[in-house]
Amino acid sequence: MAKIGFIGLGNMGGPMAANLVKAGHEVTVFDLSQAALDHAVEAGAAAAASAQVAAADKECVITMLPAGQHVEAVYLGEDGLMNSLSRQTLVIDSSTIAPETARKVAAVAAEKGITFLDAPVSGGVGGAKAGTLTFICGGDDAGFERARPILDGMGKNIFHAGDHGAGQVAKICNNMLLAILMSGTCEALALGVKNGLDPAVLSEIMKQSSGGNWALNVYNPWPGVMDGVPASRDYEGGFLVNLMNKDLGLAFDNAIKNQAAIPMGALARNLFSLHAVKGNGTLDFSSIQRLFLEDSQ
Ligand code: NAD
Repeated sequence: MAKIGFIGLGNMGGPMAANLVKAGHEVTVFDLSQAALDHAVEAGAAAAASAQVAAADKECVITMLPAGQHVEAVYLGEDGLMNSLSRQTLVIDSSTIAPETARKVAAVAAEKGITFLDAPVSGGVGGAKAGTLTFICGGDDAGFERARPILDGMGKNIFHAGDHGAGQVAKICNNMLLAILMSGTCEALALGVKNGLDPAVLSEIMKQSSGGNWALNVYNPWPGVMDGVPASRDYEGGFLVNLMNKDLGLAFDNAIKNQAAIPMGALARNLFSLHAVKGNGTLDFSSIQRLFLEDSQ
């Protein structure tokens, strides 16, 4: 079992760190929020007074931070971890950030002889709690093999997408497709209901037909059609519109840099931006359904 430093104990990082404790690892944690630290201590982790202290003398350091600027600050900032970590440390960043930010941190790590892996996740807060996340890794083979037994404690599917940054590219592609699928599903449901169809009946028909997709299978956006999903609790919890917007922004920036055409992704980005501007940023992303209703906010 490994000594692990875990930094960033939010909706995702909190349960992920708790699962590492359950898997038998010795976990030292840090977060700017005292409440988040207290929760992790209740789950069996040891609290540290700073990121540097949490990361000191550990075999592995994991970060789960909101966005690229936080990751850069923690690793490359004035007191950044890249100045204090030992060469033996395996560094895993599971935040969703731009591929070039991941490559920038990886390049500094390589100069210092430190192994770095970008390992963003899919599966949401439910997957983080259940320990069933999908990890999408970018880095070299040796780093990936070192990380696998640790990631096993938090996830079910562990993929190696390619070299540094490849995990972030795959994650961005996946979430762009998810945004397109969710918006399309909402549009189709709204059209059917406008024609007098029952949304549950229409959902079942499309699920069993060529329009079937993940949103219809496990995350139906129409209130009351499926139990236990955000749509059935006023879109509370789940994967926030603001986070989806962040990921679609990453896809957009990436497409511009690579001169790739993403007309559907760009449309989805604009739909989710409009939805956020209307005050829905902290609702689950399936609330985009409301944009297709006449009394939408
Ligand atoms: P969150 O905002 O709930 O948690 C982030 C945590 O990082 C907070 O507790 C914050 O206090 C802490 N933090 C920020 N700066 C820090 C610093 N310098 N030092 C220590 N702690 C710091 O976010 P989240 O929902 O847990 O998401 C984390 C990452 O995972 C994001 O990149 C997100 O895009 C990605 N993600 C989220 C989901 C989801 O469903 N929430 C799913 C997949 C991926």
